Amino acid sequence: MDFTFPEELILLRETVKRYVDKELRPLEKGIEEAGKADPNVLRSLRLKAAKVGIYAHNLPTEIGGGGLNCLGQVVVAEELGRTTMPLSRSAGYLPALLAYCNPEQQSWFVDPLVSGEKFVTYAVTEPDAGSDVGSTKTRASKENDGWVLNGGKCFVSNVDIADWVIVVAVTDAQASINNRFTLFIVEKSNPGFHFIRNIRKIGWHGAEFCQFSLDDCHVSDDCIIGEVNVGFELIMLAINLTRIHLGGIYVGMGLELRDLAIGYAKQRKTFGKRLGDHQAIQFMLADIDCELEACRLLVYAAADAYDKGHSDMRIAASRAKLMGSEMAFRTADRVLQIFGAAGVSCDYPIERMFRDSRAFRIGEGTSEIQRTQIARHLLR
Ligand SMILES: Cc1cc2nc3c(=O)[nH]c(=O)nc-3n(C[C@H](O)[C@H](O)[C@H](O)COP(=O)(O)OP(=O)(O)OC[C@H]3O[C@@H](n4cnc5c(N)ncnc54)[C@H](O)[C@@H]3O)c2cc1C
Repeated sequence: MDFTFPEELILLRETVKRYVDKELRPLEKGIEEAGKADPNVLRSLRLKAAKVGIYAHNLPTEIGGGGLNCLGQVVVAEELGRTTMPLSRSAGYLPALLAYCNPEQQSWFVDPLVSGEKFVTYAVTEPDAGSDVGSTKTRASKENDGWVLNGGKCFVSNVDIADWVIVVAVTDAQASINNRFTLFIVEKSNPGFHFIRNIRKIGWHGAEFCQFSLDDCHVSDDCIIGEVNVGFELIMLAINLTRIHLGGIYVGMGLELRDLAIGYAKQRKTFGKRLGDHQAIQFMLADIDCELEACRLLVYAAADAYDKGHSDMRIAASRAKLMGSEMAFRTADRVLQIFGAAGVSCDYPIERMFRDSRAFRIGEGTSEIQRTQIARHLLR
């Protein structure tokens, strides 16, 4: 595999890096200290990212996105992974599901999203259905003029700042999981949509974790993404791309952590020499470096498999998600150790990255679910 990036991708990486350094990094500490992000600030960041040309970079050009292939999306993700999750999201990786919207949904739904004016999130998880999506209880019943949704979702990111939520609901309870679900665009101002709460959590300050219910929530037929009963297939297609993107985010956090560790190991002195001159610290740095570079190649390989349409792309995406998330958490732990008490303190971003990286092993399919998929593939 040749990962010599074309000139335009190298330039794009530099653009994103500059954008992160200038617009996002200065906001990190304030959001962390406040424990939340101002929705108006996030909105203005989305508009700024759109102006710079990086917002919606992952969506096809036909619907107004940047049209980057998967490898390009990973390059952008590596730079975005160097900042916090809410800030990286404001720079424009939009739900891959939007690629399945029909032309009639373009002007009222997709256009305001790709411009950054409006925001959407997607809701699969329920109190009794996380990894086990087949146990989803939220239902949609057909009525003459549309559908009526009833149920509830939890642990959904950013519902508080969203204008719409893409909701996964059961439309054929008797069918196999592949033909059981449909995706509905639900406007948050819909009288049947009830926001319940932001759930307190470790890490990801500024990106809320939300719970809501749908009580006789009427939506029209125009609000279906794709076809009726093909929701599961669309989620699975989108999730592969998102898992590879996340692999890039995890590598980005690893790169940031490695840079911080190297800087500190060169500057801090103990027992009359630099921290980096102690073999125990050198070994930790070497392990950080090897795991990071190995993950980076795994993520690039997954992106390459996706771009070339390889049949085992799904497994490559699971490998990237599994190894990347585990690497980021292990790296944050090692770097915190290298920093000692300074790493535990809030004077440095290490403690924040340690907390943020923990959730990586759970969201978008836990490490156990990735392992299960990889093992099933091996034993098939
Ligand atoms: C930061 C973050 C953001 C999120 N954002 C969203 C979002 O925007 N939208 C959304 O819909 N959801 C979101 N989620 C929810 C996420 O998708 C679920 O947390 C995830 O699917 C796991 O479900 P669960 O938490 O209910 O765990 P469970 O499914 O209850 O699993 C609990 C534990 O058991 C393990 N386990 C479960 N089944 C098996 C099995 N068969 N074999 C082995 N081990 C198993 C799991 O790996 C886990 O360790 C988010 C989660 C996080 C952490």
